[in-house]
Amino acid sequence: MKCIRTIEEIRVCLKEQRKDGKTIGFVPTMGYFHEGHLSLMREAKSRCQIVVVSIFVNPTQFGPNEDFAAYPRDEERDLSLCEKEGVDFVFAPSVKEMYPEEYSTYVECEGEITKVLCGKSRPGHFKGVTSVVAKLFHIVNPDCAFFGQKDAQQVAVIEKMVRELNMDLQIIPCPIKREKDGLAMSSRNVYLSERGRKEALCLKQSLDLAQREIESGMRDSIKIKEKMQQFITGFSLSQVDYIEIVSAKTLKKLEEVKGEILIAVAVRVEKTRLIDNMRLSV
Ligand code: AMP
Repeated sequence: MKCIRTIEEIRVCLKEQRKDGKTIGFVPTMGYFHEGHLSLMREAKSRCQIVVVSIFVNPTQFGPNEDFAAYPRDEERDLSLCEKEGVDFVFAPSVKEMYPEEYSTYVECEGEITKVLCGKSRPGHFKGVTSVVAKLFHIVNPDCAFFGQKDAQQVAVIEKMVRELNMDLQIIPCPIKREKDGLAMSSRNVYLSERGRKEALCLKQSLDLAQREIESGMRDSIKIKEKMQQFITGFSLSQVDYIEIVSAKTLKKLEEVKGEILIAVAVRVEKTRLIDNMRLSV
């Protein structure tokens, strides 16, 4: 495995692989790996001959009052996990390498899809995501890129960007990895206190509650969301940021629960904002 810091070097290395006719699978990450990240690497490994993982905590997707500086980092551990998974190349550039002085070019999806859910709570977040992912796609030029459904809106936005900018690669969404008790794995879970960690279960439990309501015939999304809200209110360290039931494809709000739906929640547990979601076919 090779860890590469510069755009020029990764380009040279991957050009060589492509010359040999090898397919390239790409897993973009911000590091501090857990099983969720590793599952993407395994999926990439099973589908492509060469696996490239990027580790880059992207400053442009964090708001001014968000946790860019505090975001957990452990490159040494990450590199050894990549090695174990049989990753071929890790691309870990500096902020300066990706955004040299006077950098000013961005890729922005202006659709409603970036204004709802996390886009509403985190203005500018998806502009940062699409910009860095577009740059990484241009640098790595992969055949396939792997993203977790944990960030369902991110997948939808990136799929739209790839479609609309005619980027020549396939996006592969991968299932959410959870802890044994149901908590969706996230690098940010380390911020939680012992009590917060227990309360964080309210996200998955509220989704399970919604699923039960739907399975017992409830179709009124407002009523389902009210029940979820009420449930989370019972957790004293947790504050709802949003609870939405939307079309899984368009992310448009649904009044009646029907078709391919996404139930998405964002909850602030202590100071940590956590997200989770569930896709259902109704
Ligand atoms: P991050 O490092 O948080 O930017 O995540 C890098 C990639 O891992 C993204 O495609 C995420 O959606 C994915 N990911 C994060 N958490 C999980 C999880 N619990 N299960 C599956 N994929 C995940």
